[in-house]
Amino acid sequence: MSESLHLVCSHCETVNKIPTARLGEEPKCGQCHQRLFDAHPIKLTAANFQRQINRNDIPVLVDFWAPWCGPCKMMAPAFEQAAAQLEPQVRLAKLNTETEQNIAAQFSIRSIPTLALFQNGQELARQPGAMGAADIVRWVRGHV
Ligand SMILES: [Zn+2]
Repeated sequence: MSESLHLVCSHCETVNKIPTARLGEEPKCGQCHQRLFDAHPIKLTAANFQRQINRNDIPVLVDFWAPWCGPCKMMAPAFEQAAAQLEPQVRLAKLNTETEQNIAAQFSIRSIPTLALFQNGQELARQPGAMGAADIVRWVRGHV
């Protein structure tokens, strides 16, 4: 692993450079001083999607969901738990396919929930269907 990592702040979208050795020490954003990780998935929109997917040096796991989708709602607490376990090695994020239809179409999301794992802008893996927290963590660790 390299000596430092670029991490995109979920509050102000500033790209921070964090020493890899200090990743586990609750790093804060140099611009807005908020924590870069708070054990909760971040919200992706058209405004921050490209930056979060392309500029983070850690993998980004995206939950493509919608408010009307029952299985998506069932999986939400599991995804929260997975965030607490996978951060700060992986960034977890949610994309509402109803409000962000262009992004859902761009990635040809046909069923929800769908999890997609990205690293430096490349999609590494994709998994449709709801999963429990342990399965999410195992699935991600199997790909990074
Ligand atoms: Zn910030």
